[in-house]
Amino acid sequence: MAPPDDAGGHHFALRVPESYVGRMRPGDEGDPLLRQVLPSPNEQVSRPGFGSDPVGDLDSMAVPGLLHKYAGRVLLIATGACAIHCRYCFRRHFPYSGTQLRGSRLRAAIAYIRGDRTIREVILSGGDPLSLGNERLAVIVEALAEIPHVATLRVHTRTPVASPQRVDPGLRRCLAAWPRAKVVVVHANHPQELDGEVAAAADALAGTGARLLNQAVLLRGVNDRLDTLATLSRRLFEIGILPYYLHLLDPVAGSAHFEVPESEGRRLVAALAAQLPGYLVPRLAREVAGAASKRWLEPVENIAEMG
Ligand SMILES: *Cc1c(COP(=O)(O)O)cnc(C)c1O
Ligand code: SF4
Repeated sequence: MAPPDDAGGHHFALRVPESYVGRMRPGDEGDPLLRQVLPSPNEQVSRPGFGSDPVGDLDSMAVPGLLHKYAGRVLLIATGACAIHCRYCFRRHFPYSGTQLRGSRLRAAIAYIRGDRTIREVILSGGDPLSLGNERLAVIVEALAEIPHVATLRVHTRTPVASPQRVDPGLRRCLAAWPRAKVVVVHANHPQELDGEVAAAADALAGTGARLLNQAVLLRGVNDRLDTLATLSRRLFEIGILPYYLHLLDPVAGSAHFEVPESEGRRLVAALAAQLPGYLVPRLAREVAGAASKRWLEPVENIAEMG
């Protein structure tokens, strides 16, 4: 199948690591892992409200490659590349090629962080920061470590789930060398993604002293069922990861077929809360351009109570 082509003419090609393919059920067109990566003709359908910069990223770019949207933390787009291409990705139209974090760009980002003592946490994101080699990652991590007010390093990455063997000894050394608090936020949407290899990668990451959290996206036809979400939370916990966010889909062009309405999300999370300990219930959240944080949506058992 030809990869979809967005209005800007750039391709978001099919890309999926072998290890991830190995976790799919062969011959099942409805497989929840396959659905996340297989280009679909539905991506050509345009829907009002679904655009190319749904969360206002371009407005919060303080210097190239650095997003300063929320108090106390900044997000660095370390690279535009990812180990896997998720069809629902909110950054699929992002003009990444201009935002590689190296050389003078990296120096400008470091200078920005150094100059603002309110920045307590730096998030390495992308794309996927683990698409960088360990040497390039180490350059970024070492530069950040020299800024004393950066108390926490956070890494947002889907790679330990998409391609768990990437968590190699060099990466572990790089993370273990970070001298202060660290958090790795992985991204799994379905329990079938979490096999023994992913468990081993999570173990290795935990061994660096990082706390492990998960963010998922609520996706039609992938994880929009109570039993799937409950199993995901339990399985994450088994391998040492706590659920953090369950994001409502960002309205990015080409992803409308994955959308689950907010009301349904709120009912699902209420039902989850009725089954699981509180620490296994993710926060349902929506990103609102211009807001001071991600917007948390309360669980609601009955839609009539929403008022
Ligand atoms: C999501 C996001 C963060 C992190 O938000 P938390 O609520 O702290 O997880 C920070 N910066 C940007 C630009 C983000 O999109
Ligand atoms: S790994 Fe993350 S950034 Fe990359 S395509 Fe998937 S959702 Fe988007």
